[in-house]
Amino acid sequence: MDQTVENVVIIGSGPAGWAAAIYASRANLKPLVIEGDPTSEKNRLQGTIPLGQLSLTTEVENYPGWPAGHTREFLKSALPSEHQPYWAMANKPQPNHGINGPELMELMRQQAKNFGTRVVSKDVVKVDFSKRPFTLTTHDGEQVRTRTTVIATGARANYLGLPSEDSFKNRGVSACAVCDGALPRFRQKGIAVVGGGDSAVEEATYLSKFGSKVNLLVRRDTLRASKIMQQRAKDNSKIDIHWNTELDEVLGDEENGVTGARVRNNKTGDLRVLPVSGVFLAIGHTPNTAFLDGQVKTNEKGYIVWTTTNRTYTSVEAVFAAGDVADDYYRQAVTAAGTGCMAALDAERYLAHHGHI
Ligand code: NDP
Repeated sequence: MDQTVENVVIIGSGPAGWAAAIYASRANLKPLVIEGDPTSEKNRLQGTIPLGQLSLTTEVENYPGWPAGHTREFLKSALPSEHQPYWAMANKPQPNHGINGPELMELMRQQAKNFGTRVVSKDVVKVDFSKRPFTLTTHDGEQVRTRTTVIATGARANYLGLPSEDSFKNRGVSACAVCDGALPRFRQKGIAVVGGGDSAVEEATYLSKFGSKVNLLVRRDTLRASKIMQQRAKDNSKIDIHWNTELDEVLGDEENGVTGARVRNNKTGDLRVLPVSGVFLAIGHTPNTAFLDGQVKTNEKGYIVWTTTNRTYTSVEAVFAAGDVADDYYRQAVTAAGTGCMAALDAERYLAHHGHI
C-alpha cells in the first residue's frame, strides 16, 4: 500500500465534487478527486459515468452565470483541445447557445485542475472508515489513505424493474435520452418516455427531434414537472401525453430489440400496444452509496444524512457529504456545487483543528 496520507479525497465528479475540489485546492489542501471509471460498462448502463448526471443532459438553462449568448468563443479559450465531448460540438453554429451539461462539467473539472487538483479515473468500491486515516479501495485494488473524505457520488436514474426492461437495455431501453436518443434505431420511429417530472419532459422534448412521435406515459392525471416544462410538453406537437398510463411490458425480439410498449390504463385496466423502437425511463433517482456498505448513516431513501444542520458532517467525523448523494429534495446543479464548497470548507476546518495543516 502507498503510505502517503492524503488530506482530502473527493469521491465523485459532478458539480459537488468539482466545487469541493476547487475550494480545497485553493486552500492548498492538494485534493485528490477519484472521478469514476469512464470505461466501465456498468457505469455506462446505470448512468454513473464520470462528470455525473449533468454529463447526460442537454442545455442547462438554470445554472447562474450562463445565459444564452455567444459562449462558444469563451469555451474555446477555456478548455484545452483534448477535451471531449466539447470539441466534438465546438464547430456547430449555435449563436444563442448558453451552456450544456457536458461543457459545464468539463469547465468545472478544468477549473479544479488549474488549481492543482489531481484526478484519478477509477471507481471507489470499498471504504474503511473504522480506522484513521481512512482507507479507500478502487476497482483495481489500489488503496488510498486519507484524513478526510468528501462523498459526492450523486444519484442515478431508476428503472421500473420489469424483466423485459432489463433484457432490452442497450437495444431500445435507456434512462438517458441524451446518451442514446440520436441512435439510428430511434429515427422517425415511435418512442415511449415513462415519467411525469422535469426529466421526463426534458427527455421527451429532446427525443422529439429524432422520433416520429413521443408517447409520454404518466401514471397520474397530472405532471409533476415545473410549469414551464409542462407547457413545453403540451406545445410540442410530436409529444402525446397518455394520462393514468403505466408501462406494463417492453415488447421486442432478439433481432430488432424493442418494437413496442404494452401500456396499461390504471383507471380502466385496459391494455394496448404502442409501436415504439425505444422506451426511456425518467422516474427519479437512487443515491450512489452502495460502496459505503452502511458505514455512513443514510435516511429511509438511502440518501446520506447530514448530522448537523447546515453542515456537511455525516455520522463519521471527517467524512463529509455533498450534492445529490445527500439531497433528496433540491437536487440541482447549483445546490450541489454549493454543498461541495461547504464540504471543502468543513474538511479544511477539521484539518486545521486537528493540526494537520
Ligand atoms: P421527479 O422525482 O421529479 O419525478 C419523477 C416522475 O416519475 C414523477 O412524475 C413520478 O410520478 C414518476 N414515477 C416515479 N416512479 C414511477 C413508477 N414506478 N412508474 C411510473 N412513474 C413513476 O424526478 P425527475 O428526475 O424528473 O427530477 C428530479 C429533480 O431534478 C427535480 O427537482 C427536477 O425539478 C430537477 N430537474 C430539473 C430539470 C430542469 O430544470 N431542466 C431537468 C430535469 C430534472 P408521480 O408524479 O406520480 O410521483
